[in-house]
Formats: sequence, structure tokens, C-alpha cells
Amino acid sequence: MADRSLRGIRLGAQSLQSEDGVVFHDRAQHTYVCATCGRETVLTFAADAEVPPAWECRTCGAEALLRIGEGTATVDHSDDKAPRTHWDMLLERRTIPELEELLEERLAFLRARRGGDQKISA
Ligand SMILES: [Zn+2]
Repeated sequence: MADRSLRGIRLGAQSLQSEDGVVFHDRAQHTYVCATCGRETVLTFAADAEVPPAWECRTCGAEALLRIGEGTATVDHSDDKAPRTHWDMLLERRTIPELEELLEERLAFLRARRGGDQKISA
């Protein structure tokens, strides 16, 4: 066990756990084809995993589609939601009247401070 002590080991993905007696899960490789740059990305999944129909291309970041036989998977984007903006998230937490109240408070604070500054500088 002495050889497993922590000495001079770099931080990162290294594990001191031995693989003795470990039975690896069945794996399957799937190929994703990028429609933009043509690059093929091969990924390894668990054999019983649900394989996603699309993956991000490693070269150009576009959508690469899962190769099935001679063709590729089709991806239905009709249900995709528009990305939430900061404004959308804000409206989930506050109502417009609440926001107007906060704005008034803030403006009053800033006006008071500005007024104070003017007295000092005048
Ligand atoms: Zn690509």
C-alpha cells in the first residue's frame, strides 16, 4: 500500500483507485456528422444509453447529427424555446409595479446623493 501514498501527484483526473476486478459496462460508439464542416465526431456511450440525435461539432460548434446507417438522425427544433433573457428571469421574480417601486427608490437615492455632492462641491 505504500506505493499508493500521495506523493508528488499532480492535481487533475488521476485516480489512485485501482481498476483491478472492475468490469466495464458495455459501450457503443456512435458517429456524429457535422453538416457545416463535414467533420465526423465519434463518441462512446454506454451500450444501453439513450443516444442523443445531435451533438455539438468539435471543430466548428455547429450541430452534428447522429449517423444512422447511410443517413443521419433528424432533429425537430419546432419545440425549442427561445433562450431566456435576463429580463425574462427578472419578470419571473418581480412584477412591473414592484420594479417601478424599486426604480423610484433607486432614483430617489441617486438624486439625494447627487444633491449632497453638489452641496459639497459648491
Ligand atoms: Zn463542424
